[in-house]
Amino acid sequence: MCFDDCATICCMKMNIKMKTLTLLLTVCLVFLSVFTGCSFNDEYAGQLLNELISALYTSPDITFTDETDRNNTDIGNATPFTADGTLTMYMIDVGQGDSSLLISPAGKTMLIDSGEYDSYAAVSDLLDELNITSLDVVVATHPHSDHIGCMGKIIKNYDVASFYLTSASHTTKSYTYMLEALEASTDTEVYLAEADSNNPFIDWDSAVEVRILSPFSNVDYDLNNSSIMMRVKFGNNAIMFTGDAESYAERTALSRLSTSYFKADVLKVGHHGSSNSSCDEFLSAVDPDIALISLGADNDYGHPHREIVSALKKINAQTYRTDECGTICVVMDGNSIEVKTSK
Ligand SMILES: [Zn+2]
Repeated sequence: MCFDDCATICCMKMNIKMKTLTLLLTVCLVFLSVFTGCSFNDEYAGQLLNELISALYTSPDITFTDETDRNNTDIGNATPFTADGTLTMYMIDVGQGDSSLLISPAGKTMLIDSGEYDSYAAVSDLLDELNITSLDVVVATHPHSDHIGCMGKIIKNYDVASFYLTSASHTTKSYTYMLEALEASTDTEVYLAEADSNNPFIDWDSAVEVRILSPFSNVDYDLNNSSIMMRVKFGNNAIMFTGDAESYAERTALSRLSTSYFKADVLKVGHHGSSNSSCDEFLSAVDPDIALISLGADNDYGHPHREIVSALKKINAQTYRTDECGTICVVMDGNSIEVKTSK
């Protein structure tokens, strides 16, 4: 077991406290590096910074005036969330999109994706119901709006300690909102998630291993394939998260990492059950007992695709879909798994 050791490895991290002075200094450094041929000591920090700066230059003036915005102090008197020693996952019913909430055995919280902009109510209702006012880790798997649509509001309305994203960027409003909110959130540490970094782990709960399996720094991906893929392991139980990674990313990760890293009891099926994802090699490496698909009823994409439904049946994975089951809750005690659904 190496969780504690890994937690001590110095991880690339950058606190995006984009106060005016920092921004000006940074811009000066970028120009200086261009004119002198110098480069950033940490290439990842440089990439992320350039990405952020270019997004800021192209972003409109952003104000968060939506009526559903809340003041954090309004919920300050809620009963504090208490841990129950299990690893609990909620696949939140956000229609055609993805958003999962994890609660660790020690009560740490992690949100993976947020769904579309109008999914904010679904996500915040669950957080409120569980009396969660702060998020220890938030992961944005990739910049498509069905995954980060209301991330800006999440960052603004909840205390986010650590935020993980990739170097893949986008020009949409929802992506820009997310960066603007990170800029304004001075207490949030921002990390670049890469499977081939010195520390491919997310530091969350010492009893849980969170290993990043994709993307890799030197591979060209399109946006879906750039998704953060990660396995969350507690005792003998594990969940595989895939974002919208397609077979290209699945095969790339399998070719570079030990197959044993991919084994999981529960698979969040890639790309809402699209046949572009979940290739045979990947399904056989994960070999899940339970498959979860997040999607909207009668969606425009025909998800889940027939081939994937039969492939999951073929490997004897019991499949749960948010369009049929509503929000799905998976509780793991390190040995056994219980699945509950909201409808
Ligand atoms: Zn998606």
